[in-house]
Amino acid sequence: MKTILRKTLLYKSGVEYADFCINHVEGCAHGCVFPCYAMVMKMRCGIIKNYKEWLQPKIVANALELLDKEIPKYKHKIKFVHLCFSTDPFMYKYPEVADLTLNIIERLNKDNIRCVVLTKGIYPKVLVNTQKYGKDNEYGITFVSLDEKFKRRFEPYSASYKDRIKSLKYLHDKGLRTWVSVEPYPTPNLIKQDLKKILGEISFVDKIIFGKLNYNVKSTQFDSNGDFYHDCAETVIEFCRENNIEVHIKYGTQKKDIRKTEKIFIKKTIENLNLINITQPALLL
Ligand code: SF4
Repeated sequence: MKTILRKTLLYKSGVEYADFCINHVEGCAHGCVFPCYAMVMKMRCGIIKNYKEWLQPKIVANALELLDKEIPKYKHKIKFVHLCFSTDPFMYKYPEVADLTLNIIERLNKDNIRCVVLTKGIYPKVLVNTQKYGKDNEYGITFVSLDEKFKRRFEPYSASYKDRIKSLKYLHDKGLRTWVSVEPYPTPNLIKQDLKKILGEISFVDKIIFGKLNYNVKSTQFDSNGDFYHDCAETVIEFCRENNIEVHIKYGTQKKDIRKTEKIFIKKTIENLNLINITQPALLL
């Protein structure tokens, strides 16, 4: 795998449910085409040239050295660290990425810093070793459909939904906290599906985050977009209430909620380029 060096690693995220964040890989072999917001931003900033380059991840070779320097600096400000917003920490079929992620989790946990992890890959079973990785981390998967054909179309190189759930359930059964990001949830003109059935597969988790699909032409064109997402959010809230699951509905998903996640995924240096608006039609389905 190719490597890069970075000057900094830990940063304070603007995502509404996050705190500090780490992205220790540049690019992501999962190649989601919802589109992937992180990829679009990196292209707009000239950090990567195209989709093909995005699919060839590069590991941040000095990630652990950076952490050794940055943890003492930020330790007292950090509530938890999210892995990751602009890559995938357990990239499917990339053991080098998983190894580095495990080292990072271990390093953070050593300083009693809790990790909140999100993947479209598979969780390694070693995470149940709470002597090494701590017991307070939260492990999540993205899960928006039961239809594997839909997955192959929109998240072509990620793990199957079935395998993601299986690996998450394993961690849950071993007593670890688990969560699911049901986001970006597609509109019916992309796929007709029963949200209750999807939720039924993940009734064991501790937390569900639900959010709409943004930046997709077809989804935006869906006539009843506002009503649809509002009703879906109500379904998720009701499901979570019945199953005693913590819930967060992403800002702007329900009607009259005009709050927006501020600046997501990208470090201050990129934010300063003032390139938040996404209008690159070639990347939108
Ligand atoms: S898994 Fe996440 S970072 Fe990777 S391509 Fe998909 S949306 Fe982008």
